[in-house]
Amino acid sequence: MNQFEAQAVPGVKGLRPYQPGKPIEELQREYGVSDVIKLASNENPLGPSPVVLAALQNEFAELARYPDGNGFELKQALAAKHDVDMLQITLGTGSSDPLEFVVRVFVQPGDEVIFSEHAFAMYPIITQAASATAIVTPANDWGHDLDAMRAAVTDRTRVIFIANPNNPTGTWLGSEALRAFIADVPKRVMVVVDEAYFEFASDPALAAEDYPDATQWLSLFPNLMVTRTFSKAYGLAGLRVGYSLSHPDVANLLNRIRPPFNVNSLALAAACASLNDVDHMHRGVALNAEQMNVVTAAVKEMGLDFIPSVGNFVCIDVGESSLGGNAAAVYDALLHEGVIVRPVANYGMPRHLRVTLGLAEENQRFLAALKQVLA
Ligand SMILES: *Cc1c(COP(=O)(O)O)cnc(C)c1O
Repeated sequence: MNQFEAQAVPGVKGLRPYQPGKPIEELQREYGVSDVIKLASNENPLGPSPVVLAALQNEFAELARYPDGNGFELKQALAAKHDVDMLQITLGTGSSDPLEFVVRVFVQPGDEVIFSEHAFAMYPIITQAASATAIVTPANDWGHDLDAMRAAVTDRTRVIFIANPNNPTGTWLGSEALRAFIADVPKRVMVVVDEAYFEFASDPALAAEDYPDATQWLSLFPNLMVTRTFSKAYGLAGLRVGYSLSHPDVANLLNRIRPPFNVNSLALAAACASLNDVDHMHRGVALNAEQMNVVTAAVKEMGLDFIPSVGNFVCIDVGESSLGGNAAAVYDALLHEGVIVRPVANYGMPRHLRVTLGLAEENQRFLAALKQVLA
């Protein structure tokens, strides 16, 4: 341990940073392959709406000015969309921001944060950075086991993270079960429902049975916080903008630690504009549902198992492959074919690869490459 690591606060020692999907340029540099497709970070293959691009163009003239630190216009649009008070909204540099804020506000070293096995990788990172104790409950058929999560609540529990649907598994919780769980958790424990993939999961074509909109329950449960993002269905991952909805007293606390200009002016303008072109968003969601059928049918035909998903991604079990029992070799072989997917061994899933659904032709290229490397 070097001198500075020795001086670091306990949570930061041994913290492993979030591993993002491999950037296209990096693969081109390292492997010398051109014509790369990236299906690794659950991004929107259609890109942002043309309405967004026009709004950005308008904003360029104002770049010398600080953004609206309060994000008034975006909050106003979000309040109308969700039928909530503006005081319930906390804006973030992505929804990762409010996920982190809730821990910084409520969790002290030694307190406990509950999340499921195979849950989104930011939860353990945020928890450890706060020098808190992660209580990881076993998954049930890859999904969150709410009974196990309820049973894990102790006097030290401060926050419970639930991703619905979860990334990387794509599993989801139904309305009745999730609502009963939140009602049953002590009111002093914050329940965070992360709805990063809400737009995909709520699409009837994906047929997520009984999939809930947890924002509808905010008035029932003051300890409920729901996060949403513009990174996925709205196609704005590069601009970093998301938000949480919560009780106004909670939002007030979250907003105290929010950096004053954490959403820049381009991101604010783009997010507002994207809400004015929901048709574009729906086109992406419809494409996703269609391609989910195409890709999972092809995977099944190849004799591979997959985890049924209501996100814009699916985890495929490539563990029994000719390439020797784990997914890392398959991942690497796909890289050589110019196809970037996501290994998920760090999620406790060494046999699976997570593939983001792209455009029809990208998915066909992925399927052809997968067939080839497994042959
Ligand atoms: C992508 C993702 C997020 C949000 O990412 P941001 O870009 O920070 O909004 C949050 N939760 C899950 C489960 C995700 O997959």
